[in-house]
Amino acid sequence: MPKRYCIIGGGVAGTTAAETIRARDPEGEVLLVSAESHPLYSRVALPAYVMGELGRENVMMRTLRDYAARGIRFLSSERAVTADPENHRIGLASGAALDYDALLVASGGRLREWRTGAQADGRMFRLQTLDDAERLREFFKNYPAGGSADRTRRAVVIGGGLIALELAEIFRAKKFDVTFFVRGARFWDGKWIDPEDHGRLVAIWGKNGIEAIFGDTVAECVARGDGVMIRTKNGREIAADCVAAGIGIERNTDFLSGISGSPASGIFSEGIIVNEHLKTAMPDVWAAGDVAQCVENGVRRGSANWSTAVLQGRIAGANMTGGEEALRVGTRYSIGHFGAVLKLEDDRARIEPPKGSPLGG
Ligand SMILES: Cc1cc2nc3c(=O)[nH]c(=O)nc-3n(C[C@H](O)[C@H](O)[C@H](O)COP(=O)(O)OP(=O)(O)OC[C@H]3O[C@@H](n4cnc5c(N)ncnc54)[C@H](O)[C@@H]3O)c2cc1C
Repeated sequence: MPKRYCIIGGGVAGTTAAETIRARDPEGEVLLVSAESHPLYSRVALPAYVMGELGRENVMMRTLRDYAARGIRFLSSERAVTADPENHRIGLASGAALDYDALLVASGGRLREWRTGAQADGRMFRLQTLDDAERLREFFKNYPAGGSADRTRRAVVIGGGLIALELAEIFRAKKFDVTFFVRGARFWDGKWIDPEDHGRLVAIWGKNGIEAIFGDTVAECVARGDGVMIRTKNGREIAADCVAAGIGIERNTDFLSGISGSPASGIFSEGIIVNEHLKTAMPDVWAAGDVAQCVENGVRRGSANWSTAVLQGRIAGANMTGGEEALRVGTRYSIGHFGAVLKLEDDRARIEPPKGSPLGG
């Protein structure tokens, strides 16, 4: 009998695992379940896509034909809602049940809900999925950069992480004035950035026309006319065209909630614990990508970056076919920000200012 592989999540970790499995086990049945309607696309490319620097063809990384050509069954717009690892069974939102021999959880994260912005309705933006990116692009069609708007266009951005940075840069690129609210006294709640690098970041924003306000956050946000009215915790009032929130992600572990009560399951709202082979505590279940958490020196650590998701997808896929590959690298990646480079290495952020900049480096 061919082995039945089931992968929950059609992001880069899940897709890499599916393709690795196929390469190592030509006979196996490989099923990729994706809550999204699109084949694999690059989340990393979404900011540039929104800014118009890349076309959709640069964002899409697979076609439906690619999956078919590799003999991977791609179930799109479908969601795992229950799991029964003892009986090797997954329940889907459509009501179908799937039996598997090996399961990979590669369900990544979803944006943390921002309830305050709910009333801003069509003027509230997030950036996690291709659909979010399309919404932003649609919005900017009415606000062409350098267009004839006879009043200031303002976006309020809230958050203290990478997506908030991306959103601030996007709105500046589209010629919006940007007010950036960071809840804590320093970016990343000061956890991952020392005062010197924080100072560099703030200087970069200042130089690029972003007004950063620390220690305050949006307490109320309501639709007003064709924009939004914002009141902050400290009593500031700002009228803006729109608001964008980058307030972090939560891991998609809810479909495992029926079994997470057991302390041995290793399932938490922050992710699923795996060993160095990306194996979970559940029989024949692996996890990879943003949803996986490794334990180092007794501390649980997740990652949220593309290259780690690729690497973990490859290792998990290999091990699901009987391999014994182990994960040994730390987390390291960088992003561009207004010409500077933000380097993230093992939970520390360093800022390299643009070359020739007086900001130091
Ligand atoms: C705007 C943006 C910019 C980024 N920029 C960078 C960057 O510059 N550099 C970098 O390294 N990283 C960057 N990242 C992070 C990087 O994209 C992620 O770390 C990576 O995509 C994680 O891949 P994944 O496969 O683990 O999870 P995801 O890409 O989150 O994929 C998980 C998939 O599983 C689906 N899913 C969830 N639950 C279920 C379920 N129950 N049933 C079925 N499917 C389900 C989700 O809908 C999703 O499609 C960025 C992310 C964003 C959003």
